Amino acid sequence: MGAEDFTPGLNFIRTIIEADIRAGKNGGRVHTRFPPEPNGYLHIGHAKSICLNFGLAAEYQGLCNLRFDDTNPGKEDVEYVDSIKADVRWLGFDWEDRLYYASDYFEKLYEYALHLIRSGKAYVCDLSPDQVRQYRGTLTACGINSPCRERSIAENLDLFQRMRAGEFPDGAYVLRAKIDMASPNLNMRDPVLYRIRRESHHRTGDRWLIYPMYDYTHPISDALEGITHSLCTLEFEDHRPFYDWVLDNLPVPCHPQQIEFARLNLNYTVMSKRKLLELVEKAFVRGWDDPRLPTLAGLRRRGYTPEAIRDFAEKVGVAKRESMVDMALLEHCLREDLNKKARRAMAVLKPLKVVITNYPQGKVEEVDAENNPEDPAAGTRKLPFSREIWIEQDDFREDPPKKFFRLAPGREIRLKHAYFIRCDEVVKDANGCVVELRCTYDPESRGGGTKDGRKVLGTSHWVSAAHAVDAEVRLYDKLLSVSDPATEKEEKDFKEYLNPASLEILQGCKVEPALAEAWPGEFFQFLRQGYFCVDPDSTPGKPVFNRSVTLRDSWARIEKSQQEK
Ligand code: ATP
Ligand code: MG
Repeated sequence: MGAEDFTPGLNFIRTIIEADIRAGKNGGRVHTRFPPEPNGYLHIGHAKSICLNFGLAAEYQGLCNLRFDDTNPGKEDVEYVDSIKADVRWLGFDWEDRLYYASDYFEKLYEYALHLIRSGKAYVCDLSPDQVRQYRGTLTACGINSPCRERSIAENLDLFQRMRAGEFPDGAYVLRAKIDMASPNLNMRDPVLYRIRRESHHRTGDRWLIYPMYDYTHPISDALEGITHSLCTLEFEDHRPFYDWVLDNLPVPCHPQQIEFARLNLNYTVMSKRKLLELVEKAFVRGWDDPRLPTLAGLRRRGYTPEAIRDFAEKVGVAKRESMVDMALLEHCLREDLNKKARRAMAVLKPLKVVITNYPQGKVEEVDAENNPEDPAAGTRKLPFSREIWIEQDDFREDPPKKFFRLAPGREIRLKHAYFIRCDEVVKDANGCVVELRCTYDPESRGGGTKDGRKVLGTSHWVSAAHAVDAEVRLYDKLLSVSDPATEKEEKDFKEYLNPASLEILQGCKVEPALAEAWPGEFFQFLRQGYFCVDPDSTPGKPVFNRSVTLRDSWARIEKSQQEK
């Protein structure tokens, strides 16, 4: 990522908009739209576009529409429409009463097509799809005019009306714009405007047998809605001449300006809807909201907040050049947000029993624990402490390597918010596995310090065994095991790069008692383990937690190395 992306407040789109406002273009109005096709769930790339379109409109006291680009009946579905609406709202944006569907314009689009035919700018063509491709030519060779190009206006009108009436089978005819088969831009070589397709549409049912193409529908929809700045991704740059041709040749109410920006690419994941759909349909993941996916539904279930995603969209900025954004930046944005908000909690993911032999049987004390050191207003809570506790298996080594600063035979550590304990004895099972530690505590060390001021090297989290709640914890890792399959030497199917260790499920984790009542959507920082949220699979008394992100932030290091490049 270059420095231009991080210039706060300024990007090339804002520069264009501000120049337009100064020049009094569109009466100084700013009106954008977010135009998803309802053929899948939204992903983090769409979030960038949503934040950009809704964000710019808000910034310039303008408006932003939500419009479904539903011209492809076979692949679209109301399930997707509903999920997209929910996701845009969740991100924090409001289209108010401006929810539109391209399918609402089918009649208008048809009339405009008749207009093009009447003015000699469109014709009905009976070349097969293969022939259309052959006649189109290549980047280096001009195309050849279709034999149908000189059909009379009257005959074109008649055929087009009969296409609509269902007199011809699918694929028998198409309606094409009459532009220039010698244009250096292939998109201008008489592109197809309409095709015959006997397919039920999720909104118009069986009313239509012909469907307009996206490139024809989009500029007209923009114009009908009074859009001023039509923002889209770079792959549409070569389509802009046709966008303008459509608007220049029709009596539409206004002529929006198409502006292209680079799409968001994230490493270690997949972002095309086709690939996401394949992962869902073939059950490589648990559904569109699988926390490993970069879908907004998946990120939400993973514990991402709308604030973190909006911050990320702002930080990646907009540019005219494709780039690969590091997943570490997205994670960094989540940590920054959760660090302020997340209550701290004690959770032992891989428990090891500790018996404190000099602690009275049956005694329970309550120790004070702060809820969030970043937020004094968050207050404190009481944690029960007793003779038997759980600590993390990783916090003990029988033969500690150098630099291992936690518990080992004969060593002393601090239990967070509670006492110092020393390990006296290691209990093993028949296989030689450590199953229990027998320790003694220093009653003088309550709260974590001692009178003689002696130091310990480590502090461990813990949970009182008698009070602990059993929980399931799901740990996630990258979806792909390589940063970018496109740059791998061997060209393999993307599924070959799926990380087999992307999900680890831990049962029998021990969490502090208050978490039994945690509800889906709540998030916590488990001391030393990361940020976690409550999964909807939780049942009363048996919470399920997703790790949203670990505590270690690698973004600063990555950013520094990128700047040095
Ligand atoms: P895909 O290629 O994954 O199928 P799409 O571009 O076809 O996505 P649409 O539903 O047409 O998906 O996208 C709606 C809007 O979101 C479009 O304006 C599109 O340009 C934008 N968009 C899609 N993907 C990205 C991305 N990765 N980064 C930024 N904007 C995106
Ligand atoms: Mg698209």
